[in-house]
Amino acid sequence: MDTIFKMYIDGQWTLSINGETRNIINPADGKIIATVTEGTAEDVREAVKAAKRAFYEDGWMETLAVERAKLLFEVADILEKRKKEFSELETIDNGKPLRESEFDVNDAVACLRYYAGLATKPHGMTYDVPDNTQAMVVREAIGVCGMIVPWNYPLLMSIWKLAPAIAAGNTVVFKPSEITPLTAIKLFEIFEEVGFPKGVVNLVLGSGPVVGHEIAANMDVDKVAFTGGTATGRSIMQSATSNIKKISLELGGKSPNIVFADADFETAVDYALFAIFCNQGQVCSAGSRLLLEQSIYDKFIERLVERTKKIKVGKGLDPSTEMGPVISEQHMNKILNYIEIGKKEGAKLVCGGNRIFTEELKDGYFIEPTIFIDTTPDMRIVQEEIFGPVLAIQKFKDEADAIHLANDSIYGLAGGVFTNNSAKAHRVIKKLRAGITWINAYHPTYNEAPWGGYKQSGIGRELGTLGYEEYTEVKQININLDIKPVEWFSE
Ligand code: NAD
Repeated sequence: MDTIFKMYIDGQWTLSINGETRNIINPADGKIIATVTEGTAEDVREAVKAAKRAFYEDGWMETLAVERAKLLFEVADILEKRKKEFSELETIDNGKPLRESEFDVNDAVACLRYYAGLATKPHGMTYDVPDNTQAMVVREAIGVCGMIVPWNYPLLMSIWKLAPAIAAGNTVVFKPSEITPLTAIKLFEIFEEVGFPKGVVNLVLGSGPVVGHEIAANMDVDKVAFTGGTATGRSIMQSATSNIKKISLELGGKSPNIVFADADFETAVDYALFAIFCNQGQVCSAGSRLLLEQSIYDKFIERLVERTKKIKVGKGLDPSTEMGPVISEQHMNKILNYIEIGKKEGAKLVCGGNRIFTEELKDGYFIEPTIFIDTTPDMRIVQEEIFGPVLAIQKFKDEADAIHLANDSIYGLAGGVFTNNSAKAHRVIKKLRAGITWINAYHPTYNEAPWGGYKQSGIGRELGTLGYEEYTEVKQININLDIKPVEWFSE
């Protein structure tokens, strides 16, 4: 491989300090598609130094919101023009079907525009306080924001963090997943093209334990925003204690999708498929537990299996593909191991369960869409995040039982309810301990609305105005309107 893709630190494309590289693999055929430089902790420190200087000394702290907005709007326009290239690259790097990559690019463009617009909208509050004082609160940039993202939505997760952080006036040190860095590298080329000042946006490539850890632990990083697994989130929290960083964490899930007997049957079946098999099940909010009311249990499973068997698994670039490969050989083996665990635990496998070894797909990491029924709450396949195309189905008796089963999880990211009884839908949603919920739908995400979890699914929110506020400090300003001595102490 001639070209080694570089990092972007302090306005320069650079190789890592120790000269190491990493090969990037196409999960559809196991072939090397690119070689990238492998960053070190020292590279992170250089990036942080640049970001700190850009914020405090070079004037980024004083940039006008309208200037930041302009840059983000320009990034959005260029990304939109290069949609085909970005979508194809995402599919080659991540494996997801092209239509999903196209969706991600559209969503990324919309997210950039949402936050570009928000930058110039009113922020802050005034308070009616005693003492002839005008009190107000303003929102200010935090400073240097470190960001670490996973491989399941490489471009979209990058934008969910970079857009609000830049809109709010921070400088950034960003790390994509070491498995899927390619669209992030192209995105930083756009940042360079639109003319961000040196040091404002920095890209460091490399592994979690080295580059990610340094971002989380570095004394000059003021905030770390992380999306990834719950175990990694716990380690990031610990590293962030170094300088009491602000943190936001978007972590894992094992989300319930509850279907009552009175739901629109075909709609519920269709969404149940989408909830678990979209993006090969590698979605933090995946409806990986399907809870079915006992009176429709058999009929629903029969129809679901019939539909699942028709899902077209193939290479992401093939336009007819509906489900692609999972991200890596290692992850494929982890998923296959969970399938074995499910069988040993006594769950009944009614669909899928195997790696796909056809001539066309045998070199890639393809797994059949898989369904287990007759599961019990204590099973590992019901409690643990598999992060693959594996559905665990649970049966419930009534509303109270459904709520109890739904909440029986260490996670609290998302959940869906299907019923034509709106009062029942509201009662169930009210009791669901989860941050993102749907009634008679599953999965749609909106840039306008906050995204994040209860319990061990995270801390803080992304998207919407709450997501913007995660990248701001709150400053109270009290203006004395009656300028005279306080006379607390006698003369
Ligand atoms: P991961 O936790 O293994 O890795 C995520 C990122 O953290 C990567 O960039 C990795 O290099 C880095 N990292 C790993 N160890 C680190 C350490 N010790 N210190 C600092 N950084 C470290 O997760 P993954 O396998 O890439 O992604 C899958 C997970 O992400 C799933 O659990 C999924 O639920 C979660 N996820 C959550 C959301 C959400 O919005 N809640 C969205 C997408 C994915």
